[in-house]
Amino acid sequence: MLSLYRRAVLGVAGIGPVERWSRRHGWRLGARRFVAGESIDDALPSLRTLIDQGRSLVVDVLGEYVSQRAAAESMAAGVRTTIEALARAGLPPVLSIKPTQLGLAFDADLAAELAADLALHAEAADGRVCLDMEDHRFVDGTLELLRRLHRAGARRSSTVLQAYLHRTPADLEALLADAPSGSELRIVKGAYHETADVALQDVAAIRRTYLALCERAWQLGAKVNVATHDDGIIREATAFVRGAGLERDRYELQLLYGVRPKLQQRLVDDGHPVRLYVPVGADWYGYFSRRLAERPANAAVVLRGILG
Ligand SMILES: Cc1cc2nc3c(=O)[nH]c(=O)nc-3n(C[C@H](O)[C@H](O)[C@H](O)COP(=O)(O)OP(=O)(O)OC[C@H]3O[C@@H](n4cnc5c(N)ncnc54)[C@H](O)[C@@H]3O)c2cc1C
Repeated sequence: MLSLYRRAVLGVAGIGPVERWSRRHGWRLGARRFVAGESIDDALPSLRTLIDQGRSLVVDVLGEYVSQRAAAESMAAGVRTTIEALARAGLPPVLSIKPTQLGLAFDADLAAELAADLALHAEAADGRVCLDMEDHRFVDGTLELLRRLHRAGARRSSTVLQAYLHRTPADLEALLADAPSGSELRIVKGAYHETADVALQDVAAIRRTYLALCERAWQLGAKVNVATHDDGIIREATAFVRGAGLERDRYELQLLYGVRPKLQQRLVDDGHPVRLYVPVGADWYGYFSRRLAERPANAAVVLRGILG
């Protein structure tokens, strides 16, 4: 049922006039709940508040699926400015980057060159980058991009694996066999509309796979970033951490800015390392559509805003 809803929302979001209208009005109608600011300077006060409240942050400079060299270079310049602004503000520049915002969809060498520059820049300021995982067409390219970052000396770079993809258990083995020891890895359910030939469709199967992936990654020595708002997964993953006697540096609980703030606070109060994924920037449309697609109640809030 939820998968039908998700397909419908993501389908409607892709229709030209809907997109144009939403880009004009969406910020006021709800995007700002999920995006900390349309620029890093706008966002900095909120970022400081979150850090004061005990959260760590990973900042995502919004943008994806660019198809021209100039656009990829301009995106990279925006990420670089953000790394510098965070470092100047005394905040660790930990960034999430979408490979297609750096041109992975049309020029893997360009994406690698831009990503290496950003990752090395972040590491020099005591930060690092994580490559977000996008739709299934980009998984091979993203994993190869990560290997190239490690070879370029950005050894703290990491990526994300999606529990819904059939290929992920095999990807996890290969990734952790290659990665520098103590590497981190974010595990998510997966946010894109994928068909049954590439992805699990059953919610319970995705949850089971999610937990199995976390446990396997811990067995293989990784730091696992458990990125979900799912109470059951959080409960079982933290029970595993306790039972296995893993130290705090072997896991993080990661949640999205603006999603389930009370849960975020409870996890901080319970003493878990909590990191928020904080999107920043004017190109919020695709990100916002995926958040609406995850939860009918979010779309209802937008509809209420439209209907006054
Ligand atoms: C830190 C982080 C990084 C991510 N990075 C990626 C990535 O690189 N690639 C990728 O494909 N996906 C990524 N995702 C998204 C992920 O794949 C899921 O789409 C998303 O987390 C929703 O699934 P869930 O695990 O939270 O469980 P769900 O079953 O969707 O949700 C669990 C509970 O949280 C509530 N909830 C979930 N989403 C919302 C929302 N938007 N608004 C309000 N309540 C909500 C639900 O109502 C439910 O009560 C990321 C998620 C997080 C938290």
